[in-house]
Amino acid sequence: MIVDLTKTLSEELEVYPGDPEIKIKEWTSLEKDGYYMNFLCFGEHSGTHVDAPAHFIKGGKTIDDLPLEKFFGKAIVIDASDGQGEITIEEVPKTDLEGKIVLFYSRGRELSVELAEFLVNAKIKAVGTDGMSIGNEEVHRTLLSAEIPIFENLTNLEKLSGKNFTFIAFPLKIKNGSGSPVRAIALL
Ligand SMILES: [Zn+2]
Repeated sequence: MIVDLTKTLSEELEVYPGDPEIKIKEWTSLEKDGYYMNFLCFGEHSGTHVDAPAHFIKGGKTIDDLPLEKFFGKAIVIDASDGQGEITIEEVPKTDLEGKIVLFYSRGRELSVELAEFLVNAKIKAVGTDGMSIGNEEVHRTLLSAEIPIFENLTNLEKLSGKNFTFIAFPLKIKNGSGSPVRAIALL
């Protein structure tokens, strides 16, 4: 079974404050031109997307440079939807996280810096959230300097709590990109 973890890219989709608005315009139409195509204009961090190290780290890997292994693997969802304030280490179950993709059902809560450091030390492969942002600049720097990709603005994570699944979310191969929209799915 496949669960779609991706928000639909549309002009109505909310963007992070200060990011470019999403523009999707009809370039050609079947009626006028004989074929249908849209022209797209939006920031790399629009909708469900992944952050590459270069987003915050000078000299960090860009999205076209990151190994493809980073974008899929065994994943777990940590349900942090009930708490308040930053998500802390105490909310993470005591299981082996090494090599795992760790997704937070956060309902907008952000990770504490201590939790980001904990996840680096636990040698996770990647991290994700249904929130617009995984955390503040320091949280981003901590994760990205360890080459842990950050998936943001995911959806449907509440359907995966307590389940074993494979997470797959490949980015576009944007030259020197700081990130990219992804089509994120869970394979159960
Ligand atoms: Zn981002």
